[in-house]
Amino acid sequence: MGLTAHSTGSNAADTGLVIQKKSDTDKVIALAGNPNVGKSTVFNELTGMNQHTGNWPGKTVTNAQGHCEHNQKGYVLVDIPGTYSLLAHSAEEEVARDFICFGEPDATVVVCDATCLERNLNLVLQTIEITPNVIVCVNLMDEAKKKHIKINFEQLSENLGVPVVGTSARSRKGLDALMDAVEQVADGSEKLHPPTIRYLKPIEEAIAAISETLTEIDCKKLSKRFIALKLLEQDDALIHTLSAYLGENPFDHSSIASAVDSSRKNLEQNGISLERLTDIIVSCIVLRAEEVCSDAIAFEKCNYNARDRKIDKLLTGKWTGFPIMLLLLAVIFWITITGANYPSQLLSDGLFWIEDRLTEFCHYIGMPSWLHGALVLGIYRVLAWVISVMLPPMAIFFPLFTLLEDLGYLPRVAFNLDKYFKKANACGKQALTMCMGFGCNAAGVVGCRIIDSPRERLIATITNNFVPCNGRFPTLIAIITMFFTFGGMTSGDTGSLPEALQSALSTLILTGVIVLGILMTFWISRLLSKTILKGVPSSFTMELPPYRRPQIGKVILRSVFDRTLFVLGRAVAVAAPAGLLIWLLANIHIGEASLLAHCSGFLDPFARLIGLDGVILMAFILGFPANEIVIPIMIMAYMAQGSLTDYQNLTQLKTLLLDNGWTPVTAICTMLFSLMHWPCSTTCMTIKKETQSMKWTFISFVLPTVIGLIVCFCVANICRIFGLAV
Ligand code: GDP
Repeated sequence: MGLTAHSTGSNAADTGLVIQKKSDTDKVIALAGNPNVGKSTVFNELTGMNQHTGNWPGKTVTNAQGHCEHNQKGYVLVDIPGTYSLLAHSAEEEVARDFICFGEPDATVVVCDATCLERNLNLVLQTIEITPNVIVCVNLMDEAKKKHIKINFEQLSENLGVPVVGTSARSRKGLDALMDAVEQVADGSEKLHPPTIRYLKPIEEAIAAISETLTEIDCKKLSKRFIALKLLEQDDALIHTLSAYLGENPFDHSSIASAVDSSRKNLEQNGISLERLTDIIVSCIVLRAEEVCSDAIAFEKCNYNARDRKIDKLLTGKWTGFPIMLLLLAVIFWITITGANYPSQLLSDGLFWIEDRLTEFCHYIGMPSWLHGALVLGIYRVLAWVISVMLPPMAIFFPLFTLLEDLGYLPRVAFNLDKYFKKANACGKQALTMCMGFGCNAAGVVGCRIIDSPRERLIATITNNFVPCNGRFPTLIAIITMFFTFGGMTSGDTGSLPEALQSALSTLILTGVIVLGILMTFWISRLLSKTILKGVPSSFTMELPPYRRPQIGKVILRSVFDRTLFVLGRAVAVAAPAGLLIWLLANIHIGEASLLAHCSGFLDPFARLIGLDGVILMAFILGFPANEIVIPIMIMAYMAQGSLTDYQNLTQLKTLLLDNGWTPVTAICTMLFSLMHWPCSTTCMTIKKETQSMKWTFISFVLPTVIGLIVCFCVANICRIFGLAV
């Protein structure tokens, strides 16, 4: 079931979302809207929060809430998932509908896209049917102006019978006026009189007959007309939620049940079957939306999105779509790899300089050497590594990726890949969940909610791990940088290549690794849909949103603060205890060797079979809480065994790895294993939560692991056959 706005109040429906009011007088405002109309932007601007925004439909899949003040009054805003209609079919549409229907918000703001208002009005009209307390926020007015679309707000407001306010949320324009309107509606000072939508005569008669019998139950804040319509439509999921909200099932009242029954029979006699009923209702709403717009909107220029269509021809063209996609991916990687080197070096210099000072300080105060070892050489050193290796690539990759996201490129990726997902019997929207996986696989798994078919959602969930998340990216980049771009490798290396060629080569390798992950996704998706998840692909419609100029400054700030620092914070939180644990393992000895050496020695024979060594495999195992710490664990393990003490940059790290028997084949197998192994603990927990099944969590864990083991085994042994050092 959904949520409630008055969870602290007496008539709270059990809806899962607890509204956090700062004071009892706070009003609860629902923010609804079609996907991608700027709802989250309105929410962020009003609450000062940072809900995920991006130029593609479907990114808000759960409810978020935030607090805002206007004219000394408090409001709790609830950002609900974008939905085209309240005739919910998908999970997130149900969440949206349930909040508007049963959450009892004091007012509902329906955010609309000014450039396609008529289509957005369907949702407005459906919302008005449930509650008159609606404010229409016509957002993206700046875009409408550019497209020479004129909107007469007064006329529109009169036609709809509710306040209509124009906004450009990204530049905060109109938001004060919006909150003024919200205030008036929420405290009841604005008298609302939305006209009801009239359906065909037989439907109206049915509604009237059922409504009459509804006097037998307490309809709470819902209109009788709305309940009558829903009972007539036989929307089982909604009736179930409705019964929970009302505290009784309306069908338990014989008069209501027989009114519904005879109304349905009447409709049948008039040629309106249950299936046709919904279609007729929808078409009446569409016609009404047309009427409402007819005297309120003027298009001064036809074909206003000709430019977008031209760009689309190129970006989604048969011959151009794929090369451009790969090129863009490669350019992003190239900038990330070449750009990350220098700041990485600077950071590690700085952080290791601090380490030396910390060591001096520890000696100065006479700290016991074991404590100094645990704190400085254990915890601090791992933290320093995580920060210097992870921060620069993330701080470059995320903003670039977010720019593409804001521009509206991601739906085009989904469009390009759709054909291939169809061939794999999966859903094109999976491409979007993969894009989210680039940031974090757990987020990618949650994002799978945008896929309607449970079978396809499971496929997307299980395969999401084949996209390397930000925790694995730095590992891949660091290995590529060390083994394929840096000069100074001692044997058979690429050090003699000119610098430009080195970065081109490493970009190519990273792109190749990602493409391999994508191919694996297709292949495993196909495998799953031919075996344990049999079925035919469903069709889906997803609009290609207009291209929007990204706000570069905001994108950088947002991706650095929301994503980069957030991810880094999480990595650091895991790395600190991991550093301590590894240091302890490396310094507690049983017999001659440390615990760490015992563990890695135990794993070594098996690891060698797949082109790794005991330390690498152990690092992956210990890195289960977060992939970010895999490299630091390796360093610690090697350092504890080796004689060298200081590894402050990638050149020194490479020497350390080479000294411990790494070859280019080891590097490749480590990268492949990083791409294909078990999901991290957070992702596993998220899969469990989303699928509610241990079986699917187990499969999501085992499948990539087995594939990774097989691939690494094949690569290592083919290399052995060709006489390459493994
Ligand atoms: P949601 O799916 O409705 O939550 O939409 P978002 O808030 O994520 O916004 C979708 C896209 O529209 C993002 O790229 C926003 O930056 C952009 N956007 C939001 N409001 C405006 C606006 O007023 N003007 C312009 N030009 N773009 C906007």
